[in-house]
Amino acid sequence: MKTLRSMHLPVDRRRALRLVAVGAGVVTLVPGPGHAQQQAHEEAKKTKEAVHYRYKPKDGNTCSACVNFIPETDCKKVEGPIDPGGWCELWTAPEVLPD
Ligand code: SF4
Repeated sequence: MKTLRSMHLPVDRRRALRLVAVGAGVVTLVPGPGHAQQQAHEEAKKTKEAVHYRYKPKDGNTCSACVNFIPETDCKKVEGPIDPGGWCELWTAPEVLPD
């Protein structure tokens, strides 16, 4: 295998360092797979309109009592912010384990 030294190419040290710095910058700016997963997760959330979200309880059920609620104002399935006293058609009761 030929190396730059064996090929007798003039290597400008300053230019080489600049190329390394640019390469590091590109690596830093390119989002990794974790970012793509996070973005896909965020995009998968439904809009409030799509799930008939309302800012009041329904039949005594509220977001704060839903398994999808993330305190203080977030939800696993619906775009926030979420009112803990609200409700939508994805409301799901927490699983109650038998005694
Ligand atoms: S009721 Fe709907 S908006 Fe509220 S926490 Fe549950 S899934 Fe999210």
